[in-house]
Amino acid sequence: MTAWSELPLDGDSLPAYVSLTGVRVRAWQGTPDITVDEAKQVTLLDKAPWDAIDAANHWVETDLTELLSGGSKSGVQTNGTIVSIRSDCGIIQRCPECRRVLREGSCADHGAMQGNKDLRLRMVLDDGASSASLLLNKEASEKYLGKDMEKVTDQIDNFGQETFVQELRSTLLGQRVTVRCRCLIDDQGAMLLCDEFEVDSTAPGERSQAVRARWGVLS
Ligand SMILES: [Zn+2]
Repeated sequence: MTAWSELPLDGDSLPAYVSLTGVRVRAWQGTPDITVDEAKQVTLLDKAPWDAIDAANHWVETDLTELLSGGSKSGVQTNGTIVSIRSDCGIIQRCPECRRVLREGSCADHGAMQGNKDLRLRMVLDDGASSASLLLNKEASEKYLGKDMEKVTDQIDNFGQETFVQELRSTLLGQRVTVRCRCLIDDQGAMLLCDEFEVDSTAPGERSQAVRARWGVLS
């Protein structure tokens, strides 16, 4: 939050809870950016107007299509079906200067480089109406695969990248998943940066029962 006028706040009064009215809100890479022009837009509150929040486990459940029709957001949970697994999943080398992925040992900006090894999985998530790119970084990939980057490296060295991707495809394509992520939206489209990735293991019978119950269809 940026204030262009002095507010009735100082280091001794922190933490302070405030109510804001008529302020300007923009977003930068999913993080809201608030601008206060005048002190009268800020009202100090006696106490927090919400219950305790656990930031490590606070995800707002949002329908994928609804999520993609808005701006970038952090801390969202959404569902969909995996409809594509990119063939460049697995181990990559990143430029140590700019973290861009090296192509044949070379960065578009920095030329030939000794890369830093990284692991990532790239997929496409679809809810039947909208789709978004899904990216699992090293931590999320290791958690999903149940093995660390060194084990994945061994696997790819021994059996090849294609086999690794093929295995992912046969396990994940067509599966319903729940993702907890940060959603970035720009003119390139939508990208979901996953913190947690969970395959829905509900049996098809149970799932269809839930759908029938939801729509009031008698079986
Ligand atoms: Zn570079």
